[in-house]
Amino acid sequence: MTEKRIPLQKLHGKVAIITGAASGIGAVTARHFADHGARVVVIADVQDAKGREVAASIGSHRCTYVHCDVTDEDQVKSLVDSTVELYGQLDVMYSNAGITAASVQTVMELDLSWFDKVMAVNARGMAACVKHAARAMVGKRVRGSIVCTASCVAEWGTESATDYTISKHAVLGLVRSASVQLAARGVRVNCVSPGAVGTPMVSELFKIGEEELKDFMAAVYSGSSDDGPLMEKHVADAVLFLASEESAFITGHNLVVDGGLGTKGKSLFKPSST
Ligand code: NAD
Repeated sequence: MTEKRIPLQKLHGKVAIITGAASGIGAVTARHFADHGARVVVIADVQDAKGREVAASIGSHRCTYVHCDVTDEDQVKSLVDSTVELYGQLDVMYSNAGITAASVQTVMELDLSWFDKVMAVNARGMAACVKHAARAMVGKRVRGSIVCTASCVAEWGTESATDYTISKHAVLGLVRSASVQLAARGVRVNCVSPGAVGTPMVSELFKIGEEELKDFMAAVYSGSSDDGPLMEKHVADAVLFLASEESAFITGHNLVVDGGLGTKGKSLFKPSST
């Protein structure tokens, strides 16, 4: 198979890590980074078979898979350390791994044991990735870029999905604080906030299959965009921008990618009782 060539390679020669890249937004972004000339993209996830499959489909010379559970700080440190040891430095960390809400529930129905799990992955896991990526970049004096996946629900309150909404607000606090602390060290920290994307996460939350998911997504975006529903590639484009030198003077920013969904005040999350 001939390799896809893009004239302007925005990540030419860069070393990147993407967490949660065995599936959905992360997997599409890994391919996008490789197409844009990244020297190597390290995919980190807990779904080993799927992660290896994604890496192999991109090509073993430019993409590898590493098992890493982001809730375990030692595994995150080892992911970053082994990347720097093998490839000399880390230029881009895309901290993207996340899990969904327990179910569509209001604060009065909040399942606190699931709340702890959501916070462990979506907030604590992100913090561990930002911490160790920043240490590696500052240690090697790399002008690095760290991008985190928050969500459009990080910008507003929701009618339900309370645990998930809280966890994504935490990502904004992390990104804004880290960006202030790291700007003078040459490391930028931003986040991307997608609207709903038809990935396995959404099927799982709403307990719907592939076909139903397509109709569901079309309904969510009806009237919000003239280009159909939001797709993984739209988010990957935004992440690429934040990861590359094209956004050289941007830090502490939350780039919402939702086709205007939020501006219209349209929410996916309705209380289970209605
Ligand atoms: P997805 O389920 O397809 O991908 C999430 C990936 O994260 C999976 O491969 C999963 O194995 C991995 N993961 C989960 N827990 C992990 C852990 N402890 N350690 C390492 N990896 C772990 O879902 P997606 O929609 O591609 O989600 C990617 C990110 O985008 C998440 O942070 C999610 O919250 C966010 N997001 C998704 C949507 C959406 O509508 N799909 C909207 C806004 C934000």
